[in-house]
Formats: sequence, C-alpha cells, structure tokens
Amino acid sequence: MEATILSIAGSDPTGGAGLQADLKTLGVLGVYGAGVVTCITVQNSHGVKRVEPLAPDLVEQQIEAVLDDHHVTHIKTGMIGTGAIARAAGRALKTFSGEVVVDPVLLSTTGQELYNRSDIDTLKEEISGRATVLTPNLPELSTLVDKKVTDAEEALEAAGLLLEEFPNLRAVLVKGGHLEGGPEVSDLLLHRSAGSIRLVSSTRPLVTTRNTHGTGCVLATAFAAFHSLTGEYEQAFYRAAGFIQRALEWSRPLRIVRNPEGRGGLLLSPRTET
Ligand code: PLP
Repeated sequence: MEATILSIAGSDPTGGAGLQADLKTLGVLGVYGAGVVTCITVQNSHGVKRVEPLAPDLVEQQIEAVLDDHHVTHIKTGMIGTGAIARAAGRALKTFSGEVVVDPVLLSTTGQELYNRSDIDTLKEEISGRATVLTPNLPELSTLVDKKVTDAEEALEAAGLLLEEFPNLRAVLVKGGHLEGGPEVSDLLLHRSAGSIRLVSSTRPLVTTRNTHGTGCVLATAFAAFHSLTGEYEQAFYRAAGFIQRALEWSRPLRIVRNPEGRGGLLLSPRTET
C-alpha cells in the first residue's frame, strides 16, 4: 500500500504556512499527503487577525477517519491551538505506532500566540510526549525546556535534555533560523543511534529574502517526507535542509505579497528540484 503522511495543523488562508504549506510540500516531494485541520486562522502578511479552534471531537474524528482508511506511516503536527485539542489529538494518536514528527508551533513570527501558552504542559504531555522527532526553533526549544536558549551550545544542551525527558523521542531537529548574525545558518540534528547520541549539522549561506513565512512548517514536513522516502534520519535531515535552501533561493526574487514590508511564503514547485 502507498504510504500516507498525515499533517495535523492549522489553516493559513495565504498558503504560506500551516496545513496548506504542509500539503504543498508533500505534493512537490511526491508523497501522498492527508490533512486534518485543528484551527482556522485569518491571517496575511500584516498579521494573524483571528484564530478559531475547531471542536476537539471534530479534530479527533478527522484523525480517526484518515487512520482507519489509509496506510499512515508518518504523522506531522503543527499548530494545535489549545489544550483541549492537544488532548483530543493525543487520544487519537494513542494507538499510532509510526513516526510522529512534532513541530511545536507556539507563536507566529509576527508575535501572535498559536498555542495557549498557559497550557503548555498539556501540549508537552499529549503531543511532544508522543513524538519520535521534535523540530523546534530556538524560542520553542527554550519554552519546552524552560531555560534560556540563545546559541548553538545552549541549543545542543536543551535538545539533549528533551531526549532524556521523552523516552519515545529519537531525534531533535533544531531549526537554526533564529541563530542570527553572520552570513550562514545552521540546523542541527541530534539523534539516538546504536545506544549513543549523534550530532550532525547543516550549515548553509543565509538567503536574504522576505519570503520566509512558513519556512519552519515546510522544513518539518520535508523532513517527514524524506524520512518516508529514505527511512533514515540523517538522510532526511540533509535532504530537507537542501530542499528548504533551494526553495528559499528560488522564491527570493518573487513578489508573493502586496505588502512591501510583509513576508511571503515559499513557491514550492517541481522546478525548484531541478
Ligand atoms: N499560521 C499557521 C497556521 C502556522 O502553522 C504557522 C507556523 O507554524 C504560522 C502561522 C506562523 O508562520 P510564520 O511564523 O512563518 O509566519
């Protein structure tokens, strides 16, 4: 049976982030994508104007409908929104034994809460606790370990703490987009391998562009897609890093949004891959 990757995420009507970005990523990488909506957002490059979480049982039933009918090998989660949705999604995930790639989405780059922060423990218990792979950026990593994380050294230490805290967790992909300053960006992958923990990194030239909206969603989904294609964490990491770099370079000259100060999404196209 053909493998399905299921994305459980918020809807971004502009198509730059969230469920729409995840499904575009899976489409362009040739993996069958299914999508469960957790929240409807009203947003564009001026900001997130409204967030409507769906009824938790509606989220749970959507997940069950896909799991009942498809050969789902990977679940990727993004914006969960509320503790009640985290609990409902957690219940639906309970019997799932495949890869669970969790992008712990907490805030938009424009500063709006995409998860109710006062209920962070529920997100950790119900979603991060079921993850086989976590893909935080530095602020998310800092929230998950409740410690300051400002540089690569602190990021490594925090990723190690997560591997200790969550027994199901096999890998932490730290998105280095927030490790600013300098002409390069580095992403890190810390993963369990044959009884020890291995660290690999990908350092690439910084692409100066406005079109970075949703980059975190696309990277986490590309990692899930390449893991489905290769069965290997390090291969998935390097290939996802290459993919995001090409997508940033390809999209750099494009005007995606009217707002001269706004951040557009990435144009993901099979042409990016040639
Ligand atoms: N909206 C949704 C539904 C998201 O899932 C995300 C990120 O995961 C965002 C907005 C924020 O994206 P960005 O911070 O790149 O603007």
